[in-house]
Amino acid sequence: MLRIQNLYFKYPKSDFQLQIDDLLFNKGETHALIGPSGSGKTTLLNLIAGISTPHEGRIKYKDIEVSKLSEAERRGFRISRIGFVFQDFKLINYLNVFENIMLPYRINARLKIDLQVRSRIKLLSEYAGIDKYLSKYPKNLSQGERQRVAICRALVTQPELILADEPTGNLDPKNKKKILDLLFKYCKEEGTTLITVTHDHELLPDFDEVIDFSKLLSEDEINLRLNKTNTES
Ligand code: ADP
Ligand code: MG
Repeated sequence: MLRIQNLYFKYPKSDFQLQIDDLLFNKGETHALIGPSGSGKTTLLNLIAGISTPHEGRIKYKDIEVSKLSEAERRGFRISRIGFVFQDFKLINYLNVFENIMLPYRINARLKIDLQVRSRIKLLSEYAGIDKYLSKYPKNLSQGERQRVAICRALVTQPELILADEPTGNLDPKNKKKILDLLFKYCKEEGTTLITVTHDHELLPDFDEVIDFSKLLSEDEINLRLNKTNTES
């Protein structure tokens, strides 16, 4: 349902290149992206979400060719279908936890606040163990609590596709498991596809598929790194 073919992407003024020949993410499955820092995991999530666009190749979600959409269409695609958990959370400091989770509805006219939104926020925050903090502000929360707020915010719109950038990175082992269970449970119930960047190798057996970016590096990239190492040493 999400397929990436012959993709080529490069940042201006950076040596980094991302090249992917063929990658398929099946509907309702959970996928872990692993690989060294700087190998392009976040870049790929941004490409899938249409935050960046590839120079070559295509990203196809269902019958939508994301890579061919205009900027406004990509924004609409993101709002209506994707839940994104950013690595740095992107919580708004002057909004409390409830308002932060509610944020997608405040900033996107195309998301309608229905009667269920409030009860979904209550339910999600209870499960994530942050229901007692709904009226608190991000600055008064721990990193792990902020992370859980970011995850609740990504789930509240009931997205079809969840892109999560190291969503368990700031959590202790017990909460890691809990958050992953929350994501998995949600995906199983809703038939949602999950793509998660993670460094927690002990969690990998829980995923349907593990994609290792160290094996995705293009030949050019490998040569580039080898040359760099040679000149550095
Ligand atoms: P990962 O998430 O696997 O750690 P990233 O996708 O963030 O890797 O980054 C891949 C490479 O692209 C890195 O070398 C990084 O420095 C570079 N990079 C990331 N974002 C930008 C940007 N906006 N402009 C230029 N280079 C970038
Ligand atoms: Mg990253």
